[in-house]
This record gives sequence, structure tokens and C-alpha cells, in this order.
Amino acid sequence: MAYILLAEDDQSLSDGLTRTLQHGGHTIDSANNGIDAEFAASCNLYDLLILDIGLPQRDGLTVLANLRRDGKSLPVLILTARDTPEDRIHGLDLGANDYLCKPFNIGELEARIRALLRKEKWANQTEVRCGSLTLNTRANRFSVGDQPLELSPREYLVLELLLQRRGRVVFKNDLIEHLSSLDRDLSSNALDIVIHRLRKKLEQSGCVVQTVKGLGFIIE
Ligand code: CA
Repeated sequence: MAYILLAEDDQSLSDGLTRTLQHGGHTIDSANNGIDAEFAASCNLYDLLILDIGLPQRDGLTVLANLRRDGKSLPVLILTARDTPEDRIHGLDLGANDYLCKPFNIGELEARIRALLRKEKWANQTEVRCGSLTLNTRANRFSVGDQPLELSPREYLVLELLLQRRGRVVFKNDLIEHLSSLDRDLSSNALDIVIHRLRKKLEQSGCVVQTVKGLGFIIE
């Protein structure tokens, strides 16, 4: 679902987090020192950086300051063993998006990651519209006019990605990957069936899902 860089020098913590996040469908790169972390974050388009402050070679706050100075806007979640208000303020001032103190609960970390990725995805829009179709990004509900639109989980995920990339072609493989949290190996035919059902449900909305032959779909 997301491409995440994990910068953490505690090997057992890093391995454990990597396994958990991979299990949640994310792709994880890891770095165990600040120089490697900064290099990786400058070269790749990550959806999120999880950044330990106490890193060898270059500490996490310097890495964060350098990335922001270079115009990298990816969301950054700081992990730290230190927890004073000054540390938090400093981290947030440097451009961290969230802050979690060690030891932390893995469920809380996952919830914060979800929140950061959601925020990023819709750039703080609470409502996204296409014709009379509306997505309430807080409630994760679609409606057409003032009527709620009932969707299956597959239909929801497909429509969400199409809307997120409105006006652009969404490749079939991207949609299949987007659905991988529900179905490990969704066939291309099964995706076509989801699209067919969505088209029916969107008939009254003014939104049309067009097929772009050989590539994928686009919502207009
Ligand atoms: Ca550390």
C-alpha cells in the first residue's frame, strides 16, 4: 500500500517493525544510520519516513532538517527514546509530522501511520467531488447527491484510487496492487467485474469510468 523508509539502528526493533509493516501490505526499505537514511530519502519517492532520532553517524533531527532544507515534503514520523516537551517542539519545528516515544505500542504506531498516509493522500481535503459523487475522506463514505452509495470493499478501494488520480489513467496493475490487502492475486477479469459493477452504481452520478484500451481506467 505504501512505500516506507524505516531509519532505526536498533536491529531487533527494525526487524520487528519491518515484519509488522510488511504484513500490513507496505513495502519497507530500512537504513541503520543517518547518512544512509538521508541518502535513501533523497533518491527515492517514499510515502513516509519513520525516523529514529538517536541514529549513528548523523542524528535523526539533522537528517530531518537536511531533507526539509532540500525541499523534501514526505511525511516524517519521529521515534525517540527521549521525551521532553523541548524535544517534541524541536522535532515538530523542524518539520516532523508526528512523534512517538519509545517504548510504543505497535497498534498505536500503525494507527498513526494510517492517519499520516490518509492525510497525505487527500492533502487535508475532507470532501472530494466528481459530478454529484462525493467522498467524505474523514468518514470514508461515498455518496451520490445526498444518498449514501453502498459499495463492496473492492468497489470502494477501486473508486478511491480512481478518484485520487482523477483525470489520469490508472493502470490495471496499480488497481490490482491497491486491492492486494483484500485479495492476494486478483485476476484482471475479476477487476473488470468490479469496474462493471461500479459503472452501474455510478450511472446517476455524472461520473464515468472510461476504459483506456490496453492500459487501465480513468474517471471523468
Ligand atoms: Ca537509536
